[in-house]
Amino acid sequence: MKVIRNRFEMTEISEFYKKQGLKLGFVPTMGSLHEGHVSLFRHIENKCHAVAASIYVNPKQFCPGEDFERYPRDEKNDLKMLEGVCDYVFIPDDKEIYPQGFSTSVEVGNLAERLCGLKRPGHFKGVTTVVARLFGIIKPSVSAFGQKDYQQFMIIKRMVEDLALGVELVMCPIVREKDGLAMSSRNRYLSGEDREKALSLRKALLAGKKETETGEENPLKIKKIMLDVLSGCGVETDYAEIVHPLTLEPLRKKEGKMLLVVAAFVGKTRLIDNEIIDRKEK
Ligand code: AMP
Repeated sequence: MKVIRNRFEMTEISEFYKKQGLKLGFVPTMGSLHEGHVSLFRHIENKCHAVAASIYVNPKQFCPGEDFERYPRDEKNDLKMLEGVCDYVFIPDDKEIYPQGFSTSVEVGNLAERLCGLKRPGHFKGVTTVVARLFGIIKPSVSAFGQKDYQQFMIIKRMVEDLALGVELVMCPIVREKDGLAMSSRNRYLSGEDREKALSLRKALLAGKKETETGEENPLKIKKIMLDVLSGCGVETDYAEIVHPLTLEPLRKKEGKMLLVVAAFVGKTRLIDNEIIDRKEK
């Protein structure tokens, strides 16, 4: 596994693969890696000849007052986690990603204006800008993202289609701790009581899912059940919604395919989780 810090060197490697007709896969991350990240490489290894990871804590996707400064950074451990699962690790500094004079941003409409987009203004613009830049440097054939950030995946998919970037995107299932908590770099902030409270997101989703199985037709009732679970567990709900999995618009009636999504603050830590409901209509 080779560590690359220079963008031109990264592009040179990518072009080497392209010239030979070989596919380079790519997994963008912000580091502080866990098994959820590692799973992404496994999901695309059969689709490409080599895989690159990136580790970059992108300042543009943090809103004022968020945890950019204290976001966990642990390069040594990250490199250990990546050993054996990828061929190249691109670890740029800010000058490689946003060199002097950088003044372009990429903004996806509609999908980015819902859910986390409403709660974290500018977040998705930061994400799409950095992912577009990383795609430009690495020029991957395939790229893997987690269902954990479902809205992010849909927005990047839209961007790739709209800008004809020619990258095949793969959405990989959420990897969870044994007790059901979705793995997240931010789980490192949780201890004691907060770690216990963090389970409320999963509990709310499972309660909502159960309700969809009972014949309850009104999404507002399902939403209420999710909200009750969250508030009963003592976390501060940011949102709990039942949305269309493609448009992310709130549903007015139960449908065969639905996405249950929740975001909540556990203490100061904001966590998200989701559950896809896909019932074949009888
Ligand atoms: P991050 O480092 O948080 O930007 O995440 C990098 C990638 O890992 C994104 O595509 C995330 O959706 C994905 N990811 C994060 N947590 C998980 C998880 N628990 N299971 C699967 N993928 C994840």
